[in-house]
Amino acid sequence: MSAAHPGLVDRFGRQHRDLRISLTDRCSLRCTYCMPAEGVPWLQRESMLSTDELVRIARVAVEMGIEEIRLTGGEPLLRADVVDVVDRLARLEGPTGRPELSLTTNALRLPALADRLHDAGLARVNISLDTLRRDRFLDLTRRDKLTETLAGIAAADAAGLAPIKINAVAMRGVNEDEIVDLTQFCVTHGYQMRFIEQMPLDAGHTWDRNAMVTGEEILALLTARWSLVERGDRGAAPAQVWDIEGTEASVGVIASVTRPFCGTCDRVRLTADGQLRACLFSREESDLRGLMRGGASDEQLADAVATCLRLKRPGHDIDDPTFLQPERPMSAIGG
Ligand code: SAM
Ligand code: SF4
Repeated sequence: MSAAHPGLVDRFGRQHRDLRISLTDRCSLRCTYCMPAEGVPWLQRESMLSTDELVRIARVAVEMGIEEIRLTGGEPLLRADVVDVVDRLARLEGPTGRPELSLTTNALRLPALADRLHDAGLARVNISLDTLRRDRFLDLTRRDKLTETLAGIAAADAAGLAPIKINAVAMRGVNEDEIVDLTQFCVTHGYQMRFIEQMPLDAGHTWDRNAMVTGEEILALLTARWSLVERGDRGAAPAQVWDIEGTEASVGVIASVTRPFCGTCDRVRLTADGQLRACLFSREESDLRGLMRGGASDEQLADAVATCLRLKRPGHDIDDPTFLQPERPMSAIGG
């Protein structure tokens, strides 16, 4: 039985359990599908939530019934006090207990931080890795950091931040020829591979549907190499997952564009500057920072969360001709 606050259930009956918190919009890479090479319009320092403010919003959300918190960004490990943030979030207590804490990262700071994050209460990590080739990594992220990324993945593994999920955005003519190699890398190391359809969230607004490798195409490439057995009910999880026969591994596809999973969405997002977004593609935001700095009570913050979710649309409508890409790039929303 769920003891969740009615404000976490939207008008389509979707109960929200998962809060994604962006710790910063800064990043150490410049992935082409996410950030521009230069001239990023950074959030102003004074508009960023302090750690006390961020933890307060998370506490209100967890007390309402949020059960899972994912830290993201930008690159969340660039936040100087990230270990302290994890430590404080891990101690929150909701109606069903403590939230499960995970983090999505480019892995570059994991060699320095993985053990401390684990000890502070982080359960697991999702790591972005779009290629295993150094020259291609440089083209894709505009930084020559493949070796450091691989070291970060190994550090997460050694620290016990399991299961490790590896995320790759599949792009036509860029890395689609590595779909099998990336999966084999995960099979070899005991990680879980997840391919993501590219979404219109890049800073340059250059997304082209034809450059996106579809979930169906990804699956065709995988089934040419392995026998896959589809897992049953995925609940609210964005990935459709297959076990790879003859191995311990699984592979998943997040087909956000061609097979949207909005009908079971249980996610809500808080940006690093304190704006609550009911959807990645929302055009509206709820200004929790402004409310807090204006002296709002916890009850008023909970009401604002409920109002934000009440306005949540049924779907993202990427395929609708009237679709408008959000103003913020992915790095400033929190993926
Ligand atoms: N810096 C961290 C990282 O890269 O994992 C966390 C933030 S990043 C915005 C979170 C996830 O969003 C990554 O897995 C990244 O691949 C994904 N992402 C970014 N832009 C995307 C896009 N346009 N379409 C699909 N996924 C995207
Ligand atoms: Fe940085 Fe992650 Fe965006 Fe790449 S996907 S630029 S690592 S925030």
